[in-house]
This record gives sequence, C-alpha cells and structure tokens, in this order.
Amino acid sequence: MTLRAQPNASHFVDGFYIEDAAGSPIPVLYPATGQEIARLHEATPAILEQAVASGMRAQRDWAARSGTERGRVLRRAAEIMRARNRELSELETLDTGKPLQETLVADAASGADALEYFGGIAAALTGEHIPLGGDFAYTVREPLGVCAGIGAWNYPIQIASWKAAPALACGNAMIFKPSETTPLSALKLAEILMEAGAPAGLFNVVQGTGSVGAALAGDERIAKISLTGSVPTGRKVYAAAADGLKHVTMELGGKSPLIVFDDADVENAISGAILGNFYSSGQICSNGTRVFVQRSIKEKFLTRLTERLAGVVMGDPMDETVNFGPLVSETQLEKVLSYVKTGQDEGARLITGGNRTGREGWFMEPTVFADVTDGMTIAREEIFGPVMTVLDFDDEDEVIERANDTEFGLAAAVFTADLGRAHRVIGKLQAGTTWINTYNLTPVEMPFGGVKKSGVGRENGWAAIEHYSQMKSVYVALGKTEAPY
Ligand code: NDP
Repeated sequence: MTLRAQPNASHFVDGFYIEDAAGSPIPVLYPATGQEIARLHEATPAILEQAVASGMRAQRDWAARSGTERGRVLRRAAEIMRARNRELSELETLDTGKPLQETLVADAASGADALEYFGGIAAALTGEHIPLGGDFAYTVREPLGVCAGIGAWNYPIQIASWKAAPALACGNAMIFKPSETTPLSALKLAEILMEAGAPAGLFNVVQGTGSVGAALAGDERIAKISLTGSVPTGRKVYAAAADGLKHVTMELGGKSPLIVFDDADVENAISGAILGNFYSSGQICSNGTRVFVQRSIKEKFLTRLTERLAGVVMGDPMDETVNFGPLVSETQLEKVLSYVKTGQDEGARLITGGNRTGREGWFMEPTVFADVTDGMTIAREEIFGPVMTVLDFDDEDEVIERANDTEFGLAAAVFTADLGRAHRVIGKLQAGTTWINTYNLTPVEMPFGGVKKSGVGRENGWAAIEHYSQMKSVYVALGKTEAPY
C-alpha cells in the first residue's frame, strides 16, 4: 500500500503554506514500514525572516484584543481539533508510528484540552490592585512578545499545543519548529488556529534540524524559547537564550523512579509500570523506567508482569486493536538495542524481550530487566524506548535515597496502600511531577515539568501562565511628588 501524507508545503507562515525548495530536503518516514510518506524542506533564512516578521506583526494585533476574544479563538480551535480528531490521529500515527489506539485518545485530544483550558483562562488574566495608604499601585500581566517553541518527536501535536495554547492566551505569538523526524501535525495546528480566527502570522511553523532551532534561539527578536528535548540540547538552547537574556521553559529528559511497596495492590502497580514504560513504545520523557520493587514481592511482580505482557498486540499501528507500535526511527531503535546489549553485558537479568522483531519497520519487543543495580548504565541513562529496569529494595529510607541519586528529576511515583507513607515518600522525592498509585496521567489542569537537569519552568496549569507573561507594576501618585531640591 502506498501511504502519502504530503502537506501543501513545508512551512506555515503568515497564514499560508509556503515553500523554499532551496532548503535541504527532509524525508518523512512511516516508522511501521520505513516508507517515505512526505518530503519537506528545511527553512531557509528567508523563510525564518518571514516567520519572525509576521509573528511580530501578528503579536501586536493579538495583544491588543481582549482576553475574552483571544480565549474565544482558542476554544474554537479546540472544537475544530476535536471534530478533526480522527484525521489528526491518523496523521500522527503515520508520523510517529504510535498505534492509532493511542493517538485517538492522547495526542490531538490532549492538544484540544490545552486550547480549551487556556482559552478559558485568557479572559481572567488580570493584575492586582495594591493599596498604599493613599497612593496605590496596580499590576498588568503583559505578554512577552514572539516566543519560539521547539519540539521533540514523541508527542508532536501535543507538544505544539501545550506550548501554543498558554503562549497565545497571554497575548504572545509563537514560531514553532517541530522535530525534523515528525514535522507534519504542527502544520495542522497552524491551519486550525487560522480557521478559528487567529490573525495570520500568530502561529507559524518552520521546519528544520537543530540549526533552525538554534537560529530561533539566537534571534534577538524572540523573547522566549520553550524546548521539549534532551538534556544536551537543553544545555545548548539554554546557553543561547542566556546570551540574549530570554525567558525559557525546558522540558527535558528523565530517568524517573516508580516505587512499589510490598503493601501495594500489585496488579495496579503493574498497570502503572506498563503505562510508565511501554505506552508509546516507551518514548515518553516522564516514564518510570527505574522500577523499585520491595524485595518480598519482587518475584510475584515479575511473574505477573511477564504474564500481562502477553497482552501486547504488535502490528500495523493503523489497526485499532494494535497496542504496541514501532520506535520512531531506525536510529532510535539501534540506540535502544545497544542499551539492551549493555544491560546484558553489565549483568542485568533479561526477563523478557530484548530483540528487534522480524516485522518490517522499527519494532522491538517490550523488554524487562531484573536484578538491575544502581550503577548499571541502563539504570542511569535515559533510554527512551521500551526497556524497563527492575531494582530491588528493602526499606523506605534506602529507596528514597537511591531514587534521588540521579541527575534527572522529571517524575516519580509511589505505589502503596499506606497513604501516610505515600505522602511522606513523595515529599522527599526530587521530582517535578509525581503520582500516587498511578502513573503518567498529565491532565492539562496539573502543572508538568522537572527539577534538577530535567528542566526549568512548567507547562500546563496556571503555572504555565507565569512562564508566558510578565508583570508591569504601575505606581499611581495621588499627591504632589516631594523632592529634596
Ligand atoms: P532532541 O534534544 O534531540 O531534540 C529536541 C528538539 O530540539 C528537536 O526539534 C531538535 O531538532 C531541536 N534541536 C536540536 N539541537 C538544537 C539546537 N542546538 N538548538 C535548538 N534546537 C535544537 O530530542 P529528541 O527529539 O530526540 O526527543 C527526545 C528527548 O526529548 C528525550 O530526552 C526526552 O526525554 C525529551 N522529552 C522531554 C519531554 C518533557 O516534557 N520533559 C517530553 C518529550 C521528550 P531536530 O531533532 O529536528 O534536529
């Protein structure tokens, strides 16, 4: 079957699809077959110039509108997105290889939630009145200007929407650069925002590799950079932003602990560990890839986990009964398989999986290692694939110390029937996003982000507003100003 997902052109700038064939070609491959489904071009300096200039123009118009009007556009965009959910989900599946069973509920759907939530908040973005005993002051919440969003390849339309929705609600414009691996769905968000009534240029999409992201980060007309990506990229983008004293949000990698105490509902903990390691074939930043299981229930946990993994249905991601897709690219597959080999070389016990499958495309089996120790490479580095490492522990203090012994701090979870313990342990874990007796639920109402090297700032929730706006203070004198001379 020939699959095509060729957009009208590579970029969406100033309200239109535009092309500049002088940019290097970007082939887009369907991860389930390796087949080319589209061919785009990297943004040239001329395209970037148009994007920034139209973004600046649109931002002035947009910021002058009332919050109610801005919110109405975002909420209309949410409705359009929901109405087009199937088409957008199919596109996301072609772009990422994630099963349609997932994309139908997790990708454009969560993007629509963000547009609706921040659309609801836009009209309520007020400042405060500060009485000063006669004189008074007030604050005005102002937009930052033109913001740049740079995305990873695992949740393309969700990442674009999570960045665009709060940015636009606050009166900013955004230029978004998707990952070159998954460039297609952000263009649809741009189309949808235009259809919903956003001014041309308010949300521009430019394609390209890291160099296009770097050009945005280095452009002095850009007020803020929001990156979703790896720690090494985060370091570079943060440095470029520091040079221009720009605002940043950094959503970076993780190696999060998922702790299962012996009083936990084991089936529920296994559900959490499955979601937190194998959903999206393990390509989720917040995954709980270090599964600490209290020693007395370890073998039971491993036996039931292995039994439940028999429920994996691998196959054509477009088939809605399939629940496990390929990795996003051959490079990523090779990287993950090399971690499996390292795990075996370093003495971890391979419980299940570990192999590339015989299918075409970039499929590998869900993989579980047990008897993993803290110093092993697979317990320290982010793998970003379907590889769960199970570590044993004996008591609470020990597991907290070991869970925190990482440079990352994106997420963490505790499974236990003892709620006192749950809160006590969560209170001591160094992580920005945590769960008790569940995993990886990220509703838009809840702030999401990391501490330590996992990031700076928060997406979602009211917290995101703080990262896309700035306060102006206004002192109002009611009397004469006294001066000493
Ligand atoms: P990368 O860090 O490789 O890339 C992220 C984005 O940054 C891509 O669009 C990339 O472009 C771009 N980029 C690369 N170099 C630069 C640069 N010097 N300046 C500006 N932009 C640049 O991450 P991946 O795409 O491989 O995604 C996987 C990583 O993302 C994992 O570490 C994962 O943990 C993290 N992630 C974090 C999330 C979070 O919310 N905390 C969520 C999802 C993923 P291109 O790749 O096109 O060259």
